Amino acid sequence: MKQRVMIGMALSSGTSLLLADEATTALDVTIEAQINKLIADLAKEYKTSVLYVSHNLGVLAELADRIMIMYAGRVFEMGTTEDVFGSPSHPYSAALLESIPSRQDRGKRLLSIPGFVPPLDNLPSGCSFHPRCKFAEDICKKEIPPMEEVSPGHFSACFLDTKRGRKRLQWI
Ligand code: SF4
Repeated sequence: MKQRVMIGMALSSGTSLLLADEATTALDVTIEAQINKLIADLAKEYKTSVLYVSHNLGVLAELADRIMIMYAGRVFEMGTTEDVFGSPSHPYSAALLESIPSRQDRGKRLLSIPGFVPPLDNLPSGCSFHPRCKFAEDICKKEIPPMEEVSPGHFSACFLDTKRGRKRLQWI
């Protein structure tokens, strides 16, 4: 109830942007769904943009118009929800999506990205994801990949796109 009141107060104050950082952490799934619906309904009513930070890709798929995937403090991919989730261009995004359990994949081994997120004060050289990336090449260890538009409104920071054109990424 306190969380609902906080959200109501924040949105009714006339703000143009609400930052909802893990707004439903520690809530059970039923309450989480209610809170998310409340945020969506009030944002629509008050014409407020919401920057919704979450690890729950399922919730984001339902709520968001646009997605930004971040890793170790850097943006790796951004675009419409349909583009990023339906056709991920960055290996990290593809790995996150492959890590989600689904009914179709019942009985199959789930992907677990090897390694650990690096400390922000000691990031790897080049692409900060390269020690964990199945697709890493020499250039990934030396240079930071630039953010490039891979299709209209869809951006990705990975050498795979600039060197080889778009490919379907599969980790397993
Ligand atoms: S730039 Fe290289 S290491 Fe980084 S995500 Fe792309 S392929 Fe992997």
